[in-house]
Amino acid sequence: MTPSSLRSTVTPHHLHATAAAWSLADARQHLAQLADDEAAQIAAEAREEPALLRSTVYGSRHGSGSHSDPVGGMLATATRPERRNRWAEMSARAERRITGIAAMLRIDGVLDPLACIIAALPGTLPGTAAVVAKHLQDEDRWIREAIGIAALRVPILHAPCPACRCRTLHVQAEGPREAWTVVCDGSWEPGGGPHRPCLCTGAGCPCGMPGAVEGVAHIWPRDAVLGAVAGAVPSTTRSEVR
Ligand SMILES: [Zn+2]
Ligand SMILES: [Zn+2]
Repeated sequence: MTPSSLRSTVTPHHLHATAAAWSLADARQHLAQLADDEAAQIAAEAREEPALLRSTVYGSRHGSGSHSDPVGGMLATATRPERRNRWAEMSARAERRITGIAAMLRIDGVLDPLACIIAALPGTLPGTAAVVAKHLQDEDRWIREAIGIAALRVPILHAPCPACRCRTLHVQAEGPREAWTVVCDGSWEPGGGPHRPCLCTGAGCPCGMPGAVEGVAHIWPRDAVLGAVAGAVPSTTRSEVR
């Protein structure tokens, strides 16, 4: 732990916000891909339907009387409006939300508001970073629950938490490596008891963060915790969101 090397302006709020922004950038990319795939699928279906109507089977002069007859379902299908692309609708909603978060930081009229949020975060006041972090986390969670892809997290098994001493640290590994952070998942009371979050106790907290804020979930820049654990490279596996 080398807290003296941390910039004094980087508080846990800034770290949580930046980690959430990179996670959201990843989630948003997956969502955009789903929307593109769905658009291609819908376009393919639209091309297929008239072809089916002209096929020899459906063009037979003698209806079979079975479900393969074109008379009912297929003709109705030919005039059916295009199927909705719900991923695209969700993606558009996410973009509106991200633009709204950028507006909180007085960023507008830019091509990629999320990239601008990430660039602007280090210069924000801690209270602003905390509010932005909450919104980014909400949006990230909303998208990830919909698409079923968890953020990339790598457990650190060989180093205890500097604060609670439990071996429940994780690297949050979305975005560029210099933006990776380490969080503590806290602990659980033995025998299935309640979860105890690992929260900062402010000045004098053993977490060693210079900008320690009482009551905030512990978070560190990756290199502050893992100087001696350089081998903690993330696997490429992603666990599915339940
Ligand atoms: Zn802890
Ligand atoms: Zn602390």
